[in-house]
Amino acid sequence: MLTSICGINWGDEGKGKMVDLLSEEYDIVCRYQGGNNAGHTVINERGKFILNLLPSGILREEVVNVLGAGMVVDIKHLAEEMGRLREKGVKISPQNLKISDKAVITMPYHVLLDCLEEERLADKKFGSTRRGIAPVYADKFMKKAFRMGELFNTELLYARAKEIVEWKNLTVVGGYDHAPISVEEVVEYFKTYGEPLKEYICDTGLYLNEANKAGKKIMFEAQLGALRDIDYGIYPYTSSSSTIAAYAPIGAGVPNLKLDKSIGVMKAYSTCVGEGPFTAEYFGEKAEELRAAGGEYGAATGRPRRVGPFDVVASSYGIRCQGADEVVLTKLDILSVYEEIEVCVAYELDGEIIHEFPYPDVLNRCKPVLETVKGWHCDISKCRNKEELPQEALDYIAFIEKACECNITYVAVGAERDAVVKLK
Ligand code: GDP
Repeated sequence: MLTSICGINWGDEGKGKMVDLLSEEYDIVCRYQGGNNAGHTVINERGKFILNLLPSGILREEVVNVLGAGMVVDIKHLAEEMGRLREKGVKISPQNLKISDKAVITMPYHVLLDCLEEERLADKKFGSTRRGIAPVYADKFMKKAFRMGELFNTELLYARAKEIVEWKNLTVVGGYDHAPISVEEVVEYFKTYGEPLKEYICDTGLYLNEANKAGKKIMFEAQLGALRDIDYGIYPYTSSSSTIAAYAPIGAGVPNLKLDKSIGVMKAYSTCVGEGPFTAEYFGEKAEELRAAGGEYGAATGRPRRVGPFDVVASSYGIRCQGADEVVLTKLDILSVYEEIEVCVAYELDGEIIHEFPYPDVLNRCKPVLETVKGWHCDISKCRNKEELPQEALDYIAFIEKACECNITYVAVGAERDAVVKLK
C-alpha cells in the first residue's frame, strides 16, 4: 500500500499534523523532495516539534523513516535536528531512520550563495528561505553536487571536492566578490557532519521495494504544496523540486512502484510565504485579523505569512496536479472568528471571469471574485465527529467540495493530533 500526502496550496497546509496522525496505520514514512527549507509543525502528547528534514513519522517509535533520493540534505542541520529530538526523548537509530545514498548534500557554500543572491537582488528578491535549496538543486542538475553515497569513498570525494571548490570559487569570488571557499573547510565539513551519518545511509530504493513486497504500508510525505512545484507551480516563485504526488515514487527511490492513493491536504483559507502573485490576498486589518487567528508565521523562518480567503481556482488546480483521491481540509476552526466567510470563487482577468488557473504570468492582472457564505461563529475545536459540527460548517465544507469537485474525507479543527473530524 503506497499513499502520498501532499499539499494542495502554497504549503503550510498542515501536512505534518496529518502525517503524524495517519502514520499510525503505516510502517514507513518517506520524504521524497526538498530540504530543510520548510517546517512541519507537529504537536502531540510528547510536546511540540518542528521538523525540517526528518519525516513526521519519526515521532512514532514503530515507524521507519526514509529521506529519499529526491531530497537535498543539509547534514549539519540534520545533525542538529536529530539532537533536538533526542533531547526530547525521541529515539533515532539506523533501525528507524534511513537516508538515501542518492540524496544530495547541501553544502555551506550553497547557503552562502543563496544569501549572496538574495542580497544582490535587494528589493527584487524572491523571498528565498536562504537555506541553499536553489543553489544545491542547480548543482545537482549541473552534476556538480555531492551525494550521500560518496561519503563511503573519501579518496574520490576529496578529489572531487578539490575540482568542485575550484569551479565554485569562479562564482563566489568572480561573481559575488566574496572571500573564496577552501577545500579544507569542505573536507572538514564532511568529516564533522558526514561521517556520523554513514550508518544511516543505504539504498532506500532496495529497502522500500523489499518492504513493499513484504506487504508494509508506505506513506510519502511532501513538503510545500502544488503551487510551489518547480514545473506546475507559480514559476519562478516556486521551490526547486517536484512537490507533486506523481513524483513521490521517483523521489523516494521506487520509480517502479505506483501510488495506491493520493491524499491532498488543503487549508480552509489561503496562506502564502514569500514573494509572487497571490490573487486572493487580504491586506491591512482584514489580513491582520486572519493572520492572528491562524497564527500564520512560518515554522522554518518565523516570517509572517500572507493570508486570504479560500481560493477555489488555485485549489482546484492544486487538486488536479496532486491527483488527489481524498482531501483533508485543515484549520477549519480558524474560520470560527467570522460571522460571514468570504471565498474566492473565480478570477477576473481583464474584465473576463475565469475559473481555470491561468499561466502564472497573468496572475498579477487577476482580481479575486468573492462570494460570501454564512459562518458558524462558535468554537468548533472540541468537535470530534460530524454530528457535533454546526450546520454552517458542514455547509462550508459542502460548498468547497462542490466548487473544487473533490472528496473531503477529514477536517482538522485544531493543532493537536486528535483534533480531527472524520467525515467519511
Ligand atoms: P505543514 O508544513 O503543511 O505541515 O504546515 P505547518 O506546520 O507549516 O503549518 C501548519 C500549522 O497549523 C502548524 O502549526 C500546525 O500545528 C497547525 N495546524 C494544523 N492543522 C490545524 C488545524 O486544523 N487547526 C489549527 N488551529 N491548527 C492546525
